[in-house]
Amino acid sequence: MAVSYKELGLVNTREMFAKAVKGGYAIPAFNFNTMEQMQAIVQAAVKQKSPVIMQVSKGARNYANGTILRYMAQGAVEYAKELGCANPQIVLHLDHGDSFELCKDCIDNGFSSVMIDGSALPYEDNIALTKKVVEYAHQHDVTVEAELGVLAGVEDEVQAEESHYTKPEEVIDFATRTGCDSLAISIGTSHGAYKFKPEQCTRDPKTGKLVPPPLAFDVLHAIEKKLPGFPIVLHGSSSVPQDEVDTINAHGGKLPDAVGIPEEQLREASKSAVCKINIDSDSRLAMTAAIRKYFDEHPEHFDPRQYLKPARENMQKMYEHKIV
Ligand SMILES: [Zn+2]
Repeated sequence: MAVSYKELGLVNTREMFAKAVKGGYAIPAFNFNTMEQMQAIVQAAVKQKSPVIMQVSKGARNYANGTILRYMAQGAVEYAKELGCANPQIVLHLDHGDSFELCKDCIDNGFSSVMIDGSALPYEDNIALTKKVVEYAHQHDVTVEAELGVLAGVEDEVQAEESHYTKPEEVIDFATRTGCDSLAISIGTSHGAYKFKPEQCTRDPKTGKLVPPPLAFDVLHAIEKKLPGFPIVLHGSSSVPQDEVDTINAHGGKLPDAVGIPEEQLREASKSAVCKINIDSDSRLAMTAAIRKYFDEHPEHFDPRQYLKPARENMQKMYEHKIV
């Protein structure tokens, strides 16, 4: 039976994006698959008095089950109230929807926002697919994120060898003809924990760490000029904190040369029309680092609560830091 997100106490992105664009900040969109991630996201958002976007990919939906996710989102809203937030601003968003049917299924099952990613399709096909999703979504007051340009990297089913920056000359035509509410663009961010190959980076002579190439702010500003005030989204924006990577590697992990987007660049981008920043890998790293460390230090423990609690705490710390 179909359920509207409004019955679950969720909100769409329209109002929060308008405020974010005006206020020169971005709202973090955290991917989640587990109860611990959900709890940590809600605790961080309530503590920082921030709206938050909780998003799931197709893979996460397959992992966690769509029905369970719907109730988890509803649980997130109720949990936020219990933690003292009178009017939680929580979005349940589909990340990288790849078909009209998947988007429709999510809209019919309590999602307040969906992404239709037709960025791998020819331009006209991307427009046609996005427009179809927008028409259905708007009948249900669900907001739609579309994508133009291709991000490199691997995340769940989404992968591409190399990135193609969004072409600023296409954005007006695309936004007008599709009616989408926000636009994910490609300016050099990338999916996953290995955003750049070592040969794309330079090395900091002091620390020996990899320094990634800078984001294409010129492309971002050109897009902003074409679409003033239009909500822009950055995918693949984890910073891949070096201390988490070091913890993982110090406790039996093997993540050589993992590299993300420096936070200064993301903060810079969020002052512009960028109003949603997607973060997934950082949560994975925070969880894995805490668990690896715990296992190493307490080989005699086997109750999942013992190691999931520090994992949850570590994720919450990371989420709070991102929201500020
Ligand atoms: Zn993405």
